[in-house]
Amino acid sequence: MDLGIAGRWALVCGASKGLGRGCAEALVSEGVNVLINARTEAPLQQTATELRAVSADWSSATGQNEPEIVAVACDITTPEGREAVWNAPGGPGRGFDIVVTNAGGPPTGNFRGFTPEDWQRAVGANMLTPIELIKAVVDGMAERGYGRVLNITSSAVKAPIDILALSNGARSGLTGFVAGLARSGIAARGVTVNNLLPGKFDTDRLNATLVAAAQKAGKSLEEIRASQAAQIPARRFGTPAEFGALCAFLCSPLAGYINGQNLLLDGGLYPGTF
Ligand code: NAD
Repeated sequence: MDLGIAGRWALVCGASKGLGRGCAEALVSEGVNVLINARTEAPLQQTATELRAVSADWSSATGQNEPEIVAVACDITTPEGREAVWNAPGGPGRGFDIVVTNAGGPPTGNFRGFTPEDWQRAVGANMLTPIELIKAVVDGMAERGYGRVLNITSSAVKAPIDILALSNGARSGLTGFVAGLARSGIAARGVTVNNLLPGKFDTDRLNATLVAAAQKAGKSLEEIRASQAAQIPARRFGTPAEFGALCAFLCSPLAGYINGQNLLLDGGLYPGTF
């Protein structure tokens, strides 16, 4: 199915690996130009090279120009990092049609040990950074009559996890903001804003939490992986490609009536009816 977004420009943050990369790859597979961002130059450039191969394949299959791939190594949680994105040579400035906000999740731990500085860092990365990114692009999207903002948050917004206090709190703040923004009049001008809530996806981040859980339980990584996967109705972790597929669909005109939603992707792990 052609999603009808070829030639659009997307900013995908935190895209050298994991869920961000899955989103970038799905968008390039639809002919979308992407600016990808991550903090470390070498893995980001490696991902850019791999995405250029996807871009060339799309071009050969469709006979259309190869989608552009621009890579900007910076910390997206800083004002300097965001300026580097807006000013990137070869990018569209602030004229993105699609923005996928994403950055590393905050550390786990007991809330009694967190300092105000820990909270400020978590709120900065997982609430204020998406808001700053949205602020920079959303009015331009509305003026041009098309825009898609997707925030990668977490299933912890819907079903909080006690050791993820920083994530539960900071991401819930973003979720409340988005709920208001999505209903503020921009939808009538072609701009939708939604959140994607990953459950357990097979990425480096998940692996790091499984390694820690295995050490704590005195079990092997394989045992912990198997026991956690067994708790999911799908009996497996999700893949970045599955995550990217929903991202690409939501970025398309076909999803123009989906707005202000929190879409849970968790293989059925959340036990509620809704
Ligand atoms: P990952 O560690 O596999 O990838 C994270 C990506 O973000 C990398 O490219 C990294 O370089 C980049 N990044 C991190 N901090 C950045 C920053 N400050 N500026 C720019 N780039 C930055 O992680 P993932 O599993 O893809 O997770 C993505 C987000 O989804 C995280 O916030 C994570 O907490 C959340 N999440 C993931 C899962 C899961 O199962 N994987 C579940 C719930 C929530």
